[in-house]
Amino acid sequence: ERIIGAGATREDDLSEAKIRPARLADYLGQAPVREQMQIYIEAAKSRTEALDHVLIFGPPGLGKTTLSHVIANELGVNLRVTSGPVIERAGDLAALLTNLQPHDVLFIDEIHRLSPVVEEVLYPAMEDFQIDIMIGEGPAARSIKLDLPPFTLVGATTRAGLLTAPLRDRFGIVQRLEFYEVDELTQIVRRAAGILGIHCEAEGASEIARRARGTPRIANRLLRRVRDYAQVKADGHISRDIAQAALGMLKVDAQGFDELDRRMLNVIIDFFEGGPVGVESLAAALSEERGTLEDVIEPYLIQQGFLVRTARGRMATARAYRHLGLKPKAPAADLF
Ligand code: ADP
Repeated sequence: ERIIGAGATREDDLSEAKIRPARLADYLGQAPVREQMQIYIEAAKSRTEALDHVLIFGPPGLGKTTLSHVIANELGVNLRVTSGPVIERAGDLAALLTNLQPHDVLFIDEIHRLSPVVEEVLYPAMEDFQIDIMIGEGPAARSIKLDLPPFTLVGATTRAGLLTAPLRDRFGIVQRLEFYEVDELTQIVRRAAGILGIHCEAEGASEIARRARGTPRIANRLLRRVRDYAQVKADGHISRDIAQAALGMLKVDAQGFDELDRRMLNVIIDFFEGGPVGVESLAAALSEERGTLEDVIEPYLIQQGFLVRTARGRMATARAYRHLGLKPKAPAADLF
């Protein structure tokens, strides 16, 4: 298991139940998203209407699930949580929808993985709060229309481009989550430390934040590992030195990169002479899935200016060469 992997582990799930923010005020960072959502939620409440459907996209661990919890809490309604691959048949979705209370929030994670048949059922549900279901089989089969209570669908996906156009068009509110700044992650670490009763100095927290790949889930996980280290190797206190030593042991470097990130940059530089290299060739050379590369590894490398995506493939930048202690070859993609 990758220590800076952005996917949730079982331990994350257990600990997140305690530290996951429940209100907008505790949802740190993402200022534009927070400001907009506050207005939309207040407006829907004052009209006693269901909030318009919300699509949230962004890399794993940035707070999509958390935002859906916050939305339901702020609206004062129930939240039902499911995910695209879990809804196998149209009937599964119909069962979920017909059990909603008025104005409830239905959260569908990985909404791009809904099957086309299920997606078809979702369109009229989102648009007119109605579904058509088939009763019986063969020549006796007939379709009946069912009215649904007005509800809010919150869909989450890693990239907006994965959604079909008709589905994307049915969301009135679209929010894109960005990687967090170090000072925002520092606040998130300090808040989590407070809830978990961990003594963490400001500098210890910012050291963890700096290496968390802009991702709250990773920041919280690094905090737990640094706490273990502090308990066994010191007095349980997280100072900057302790954080640095613990993160060094975990092989998370000063940029927040781990061996997989460094390997990816190395492969582009060594095997492919700095690129451009197509994503398929890169995935094969790394023995990783293309999706992992596109959703989990490269967004942060690109955002940090270590990698660029061109029409002909990925290229390492001069910054990537320098980070690995290499001399940029001329003419490298010297855009940064
Ligand atoms: P995603 O659904 O995008 O994969 P999650 O919503 O599960 O990510 O977020 C992972 C964890 O990170 C949450 O449990 C929460 O503790 C923390 N987190 C996410 N966003 C925020 C935020 N804006 N403020 C504070 N903590 C956050």
